[in-house]
Amino acid sequence: AKDDLLRRHSIFEPVIMSRHSELLQMDRDLEWALEHDEFELYYQPKVDLVTGAIVSVEALLRWNHPDQGMIPPNVFIPRAEANGSIIPLGEQVLRKACLQCQAWREQGFEDLTVAVNLSAVQLYQANFVEQVERALADTGLPAEALELELTESCLMEDMDVAERILRSLCTLGVSLSVDDFGTGYSSLAYLRRFPVSSLKLDQRFVKELEMGGEAELIAGAVLALARSLSLITVAEGVENHYQAKWLHERGCHQAQGYLYARPMPASACLTLMQKREAF
Ligand code: C2E
Ligand code: CA
Ligand code: CA
Ligand code: CA
Repeated sequence: AKDDLLRRHSIFEPVIMSRHSELLQMDRDLEWALEHDEFELYYQPKVDLVTGAIVSVEALLRWNHPDQGMIPPNVFIPRAEANGSIIPLGEQVLRKACLQCQAWREQGFEDLTVAVNLSAVQLYQANFVEQVERALADTGLPAEALELELTESCLMEDMDVAERILRSLCTLGVSLSVDDFGTGYSSLAYLRRFPVSSLKLDQRFVKELEMGGEAELIAGAVLALARSLSLITVAEGVENHYQAKWLHERGCHQAQGYLYARPMPASACLTLMQKREAF
C-alpha cells in the first residue's frame, strides 16, 4: 500500500504534470488547427541527377500556429499519431497534394508527380486504399502521378497486412517508395516482397559522404542493391556539389536537398518551376 501511494504520488510530480498538460494543450490545438486550416503544405523538388530537371515534388507539412509560428512536423506529427488526429490530417494532406499537383499539371507541367509521406497509422486504417482512390477521383490526378513514401518500420509493423495494402495501391497505379532507407532493417527479403519502385537514401549517409568511412560504404551498398533490384534511387539532404557528383557517379537517379531547393510554399515552388522551364 505504501508502494502504491509512492507510485501514485510520483505521477503527480510537477514536471510530469506540466508535460501532461502540455500534451493535452497540443491535442486541443491540433483539433482547432484542423478545423481552422492552420496546416500548409510546402513542396521540395526532386531533381533528375542526369538532366537537372525537376521530376517530382515532395509535400512536407507545416503547422502555422497563431502564437508559436511555423511548427515543424517532427514536433507535432508524433502527437497527431498518438491521438489519432493524423487520420483526418493525413487525408487533408493527401487531398491537398493531389489537388496541387493536378493544378500544376494543367498549368503546363504535365509530367509532374507528387510524393506524400504516410504514417503507419494511416496505412493500416481500414479504408486507406479507398481514401486514396477517392482523393484521385475527386482531384482528377492520375494514379501514376502519385507516389507514397513509407518508412521501413511502417512496413515492418505488420508485413502481411502491409503487403496486401501495397499490392492494392500498386494495382491502382500509385507508386511506392521506401523513405529513410538504410536506417532501419533494410533487408533484401522485404524489398522483394513489397511492390516498391524507389528507395530514398537517408540524409544521414549523404551528410557524411565527405568523411568517407562507413556512411560512404553504406550509401554505395544501397545504390548497388537498388540497381540489382531495378529500383529508382533518390538521395535526400543533398547540400553540396561533392555529394551530387558522388551520387551521380554511382548511378543514383534523383536528388533532393538544399543544393537545389528548400521546401517552399506552393506559390514559390511554381515560380521556381517556371524559371527552370525558361532555360
Ligand atoms: P522526411 O520525409 O525524411 O523529409 C525530409 C526532411 O529533410 C524534411 O524535413 C526536409 O525539409 C528536410 N530536408 C530536405 N533537404 C534537406 C537538406 O538539404 N538538408 C537538411 N538538413 N534537411 C533537408 P521536414 O519538412 O521538417 O520533415 C520532417 C519529417 O516529417 C519528414 O521527414 C517526414 O517524415 C515527416 N513529415 C513531413 N510531412 C509529413 C506528412 O504530411 N505526413 C507525415 N506522416 N509525415 C510528414
Ligand atoms: Ca519523405
Ligand atoms: Ca526521408
Ligand atoms: Ca526522415
